[in-house]
Amino acid sequence: MPTSAQPSSTTCAIAGCGPAGAVLGLLLARAGIEVVVLEKHGDFLRDFRGDTVHPSTLELMDELGVVDEFLTLPHNTVSHVQLQTTAGQKLTLSLERLPTKFRFIAFMPQWDFLEFITRRAQAFPSFTLLRNAEATGLIEDAGAVRGLVYRRDGREHELRAAITIGADGRTSVTRKAAGLPLIETASPIDVLWFRLPRNQDEAQAVAGRIGPGRLLVMLNRDAYWQVAFVIAKGQADAIRSRGLEAFRREIVSVAPELGQRVEGIRDWDEVKLLTVRIDRLERWHRPGYLAIGDAAHAMSPVGGVGINVAIQDAVVAANCLWQPLSKGDVGEDVLADVQRRRERPVRLIQALQAVVQERFLRPALESQQVPSIPWLARVLLSTPILRDIPPRIIALGFGRPHIESPARDRR
Ligand SMILES: Cc1cc2nc3c(=O)[nH]c(=O)nc-3n(C[C@H](O)[C@H](O)[C@H](O)COP(=O)(O)OP(=O)(O)OC[C@H]3O[C@@H](n4cnc5c(N)ncnc54)[C@H](O)[C@@H]3O)c2cc1C
Repeated sequence: MPTSAQPSSTTCAIAGCGPAGAVLGLLLARAGIEVVVLEKHGDFLRDFRGDTVHPSTLELMDELGVVDEFLTLPHNTVSHVQLQTTAGQKLTLSLERLPTKFRFIAFMPQWDFLEFITRRAQAFPSFTLLRNAEATGLIEDAGAVRGLVYRRDGREHELRAAITIGADGRTSVTRKAAGLPLIETASPIDVLWFRLPRNQDEAQAVAGRIGPGRLLVMLNRDAYWQVAFVIAKGQADAIRSRGLEAFRREIVSVAPELGQRVEGIRDWDEVKLLTVRIDRLERWHRPGYLAIGDAAHAMSPVGGVGINVAIQDAVVAANCLWQPLSKGDVGEDVLADVQRRRERPVRLIQALQAVVQERFLRPALESQQVPSIPWLARVLLSTPILRDIPPRIIALGFGRPHIESPARDRR
């Protein structure tokens, strides 16, 4: 089926071509399943999204046999995360001892990742990507979801499907239409993202800076730093109202090495707010419908795991779905199996993120003095038998899935 054709029925309809939807689309098409992925935007260009490709995802790319080609795309690698307080206290997380072939995080723009995956998927005849196609609702019949309704070219269309996947992100329209209840956990932080020039002689690591009431993380993007300025929940408007000059001073107070470079922030338009949320669906499925990725569980940015967890969901969904789909029959037990396999790893990571937010980030933001790095973190990261546990969780997640769906012929 050509990429731009407007099909009215398919085997698997996927709403959303983010990391979860794109990877699931690729794996199903590769297994010979007809799949249509709908993406509401015309391209994948998004600033400040999950650009952190962790070893768990690199291992999956390796299983697909594409990792060497993938790593020829422009990216830079980081093997250490360093935290430093303004009083000089330091803490380092190292990926260099992890039990994996890929002992680094690859920083790559998410649009390059998505273009790469969808290009691979288009090599399979059963894959269709519809851009500028926005899912607006679900088709329901006798209590089951039978496909979705989408808007494209100013008109409403129907796409009937044996199974409909909600991979439409943290504000998912499809999960709302499916009426699945969401459990939200309060998050004490939000994040302001922006860019500043980086000098080539500066550290390769991810660098965290902690000062009185301030917390900043700098991600090395080669020519520039991608900076996360962590703020107390709901404080973005107050910070903006104090003006850009005051904001620049706050940045330099915690990261003096940025000095004059903060003048690079010329407008609030260059500062993007991420409203941090940790939530998850109580039930990820209904007959004929399954939510995965952020649509099933929005992750905190702590650890930069969101994209990687979404991709692991996609792998497990493909493992569970490809056989029933090839027989044309997906019972709800299969969908429940996807949730059963993924829910525990997701909840464990969310619980750890909540602990870091409450025990470390909140006190740091509320402190009027230079906060010290918690003793537990210091003991954990300086004890040889314990120090690899945190980087291992960040890099590999829990219950690492492997690709079990087969590869059929390409176009
Ligand atoms: C500002 C920001 C910074 C982040 N930083 C990091 C980070 O550093 N590291 C990390 O790992 N994670 C980060 N994340 C989280 C990460 O981006 C997500 O966890 C990850 O992308 C989830 O993948 P997904 O495919 O489930 O959803 P998304 O990536 O949200 O993809 C959903 C896709 O569906 C499309 N869509 C939405 N609604 C519809 C619709 N109705 N019809 C059709 N298409 C639709 C969207 O356009 C999008 O392409 C960040 C998120 C944000 C917002």
